[in-house]
Amino acid sequence: MPSYRDRVAAAYDAEHFRRQGHQLVDQLADYLSRATHGDNLPVLPWSPPAERLTQFPGDFPAEPTGELSGLMERVLATSNHLHHPRYIGHQVTAPLPLAALCDFVSSLLNNGMAVYEMGPSATAMEHSVLRWMAGQLGLPEGSGGVLTSGGSAGNLTALLAARQARAGYDAWGGGSAAGPPLTVLVPETAHYCIARSVKVMGWGTEGVTPVPVDAHFRLRPEALEEARTRALKAGRRPIAVVACAGSTATGAFDPLEAVADFCERQGLWFHVDGAHGASAVLSPEDRHRVKGIERADSVVWDAHKMMLMPALITAVLFREGSRSFEAFAQEASYLFHGQDTRRWSDIGLRTLECTKEMMALKLYTCLSLLGTRFFSDYVAATFALARRFAAMLQAAPDFELAVEPGCNIVCFRHTPAGLPPSERDALQTHLRERLITRGDFYLVQTTLPRGVHLRTTLINPLTSEADLNALLETLRQAA
Ligand SMILES: *Cc1c(COP(=O)(O)O)cnc(C)c1O
Repeated sequence: MPSYRDRVAAAYDAEHFRRQGHQLVDQLADYLSRATHGDNLPVLPWSPPAERLTQFPGDFPAEPTGELSGLMERVLATSNHLHHPRYIGHQVTAPLPLAALCDFVSSLLNNGMAVYEMGPSATAMEHSVLRWMAGQLGLPEGSGGVLTSGGSAGNLTALLAARQARAGYDAWGGGSAAGPPLTVLVPETAHYCIARSVKVMGWGTEGVTPVPVDAHFRLRPEALEEARTRALKAGRRPIAVVACAGSTATGAFDPLEAVADFCERQGLWFHVDGAHGASAVLSPEDRHRVKGIERADSVVWDAHKMMLMPALITAVLFREGSRSFEAFAQEASYLFHGQDTRRWSDIGLRTLECTKEMMALKLYTCLSLLGTRFFSDYVAATFALARRFAAMLQAAPDFELAVEPGCNIVCFRHTPAGLPPSERDALQTHLRERLITRGDFYLVQTTLPRGVHLRTTLINPLTSEADLNALLETLRQAA
């Protein structure tokens, strides 16, 4: 029986790591080849959760056993294949393999970044990536922010800063009962994490004042004043407006210029949830959709959506970079000693996380090695493909486009001749179930005012027009 010391030496043995790593990369490369070609591979190898559980039981051995490749083969075979050209579901991208290699490096180095000393290179790369992103958005000199673990954490971070800036009292130190109750004006189409953030801040359900949207699911700017008055009458002081740059369900872009004007007039914080759609700024043909984003006080932008990064990497950018210190104004004195606590380089002062991944590494590397045009072209191509898909749907008498797509999210339904309106919703649900359990396609669904719709996000750069033609044909046959 080897001693603990011997087992430690084996677990950290560089030569063993080299061999295992080469094998793993070979295994992943074979997988990638199959997945990107969609060769005899169901997009989602469907199985009910309880059945999957039996394949991954928690009965861990006390002594070393088995091979990495066997376990990984099972993981690969039973996961959702996001690189499959017929993955057109949620807004989670087919990550660049180069970015995956960077995550490998990040995990090995494990430079946790709460303080500069714990992640010198990661801190510098984070700063540079954020400066570049702020520049793309057109934010002024002095803007800045942080990277955080996802859009949900990002929106909470931005709203905490908004509260500190506009509440008129110290809600962070004194709690939400230290002053008048607050609210945020939020379009009905906003992602649920906005309401969740508001509840985390302790403002309850009334902390969100809904703003109606138009027939294209865009915030109606003329409804803002009415929403503000409604909130005031209910005893709530509005401090901010949230606008969606790419709403989750349909990808609609709120009219940012009009919201910015309203915020300026009323002295409200202007937050843009651009988790999905802020990437539109990268494409010269599409950036008009986010005109006005440069006037935002804060913007959330997920690189794991429309910048081809693996989860998670989200930028929270502030027009005044120093605002980013206000989201979490409390000082953890054992980490941040000395007077100069507001250095850009002490990232943990400004994030929900203490320790976090070296998340900038993958984006910094991909921007450096692939160049920025790759990303501009990707955004332009996916948005254009969505427009072509919309045209295909409009030309087909048995399909109905929900709304002209603003980005690469397309919602539609199948309405074959003779289908009674009362069965429309059930048909979409059944069709989706059929397609995803067979593994033909992975797509999702959403309920819009006119009923249940199939929802696709054309986020995988390998998806082609031919795949979308095949989708319509497959749906017809399944119906
Ligand atoms: C995806 C999304 C979110 C949530 O972001 P995560 O990174 O999944 O936490 C928030 N807002 C919008 C508009 C989104 O599309």
